[in-house]
Amino acid sequence: MSKKRTIVVVEDEDAIRRGIADALTIAGYQVLEAADGVSGLAEARRADVDLVLLDLLLPGMNGFEVLSELRLTHASLPVIILTARGSEDDRVRGLHGGADDYVVKPFSARELLARVEAVLRRSPERPKPIVRISAGDSTVDCARREVRHGESSPIALSEMEAEILQRLAAHAGRCVSREELLSSVWGLRDGTVETRAIDMHITRLRQKLARGSADRAKEWIVTVRGEGYMLGPEVHVAVEDVAEEGAA
Ligand code: CA
Repeated sequence: MSKKRTIVVVEDEDAIRRGIADALTIAGYQVLEAADGVSGLAEARRADVDLVLLDLLLPGMNGFEVLSELRLTHASLPVIILTARGSEDDRVRGLHGGADDYVVKPFSARELLARVEAVLRRSPERPKPIVRISAGDSTVDCARREVRHGESSPIALSEMEAEILQRLAAHAGRCVSREELLSSVWGLRDGTVETRAIDMHITRLRQKLARGSADRAKEWIVTVRGEGYMLGPEVHVAVEDVAEEGAA
């Protein structure tokens, strides 16, 4: 078994912080708690921290200040910010400031754990490749880049289609914008490829995943109007984990 992963929770509201700490502890994480920005920054900089959950409105030093200070010394430590509903500016500012993801309050323990797992999965320190993505009786084999529906013969996915799907899977639980897909899948930031190209690839990907059924297409990839796409809530993502598979 691998050692427990450590998460720092920086949140000044005691009830919320304890609720988060309990949920994480039950899920098998080691938790360090901080009730203000200054001690939160100190905890986050300790050795062996794997991820930081960072509230934005904190006494003394706010979450944005903690994040920018932390990034000076820990460029790639995963950080998820906790934002209030409706404060989209905070969300955008947090992501631009180097946060890996965000969770909107109030959130369920299940939602929070899904975000934590997704961010840890793609963290550079602990790469955990996605091996399978499935919904109902359909399964995508990421190594082979093919989808299989029940017992039928597999359908090949293009490299782009496979990468888009894996990108959505890596961010399961949140919307991924077309711009983000463009820059991550194509590595392009100069605007030579239009975001509309993403829509075309998504359309073809959905057709392959859904076997022509419009309802099934929605199950796999949800369109978030005006924002982008996200993985359907019922889609299951399996990552490579030797310990777990060996124990099963
Ligand atoms: Ca607060």
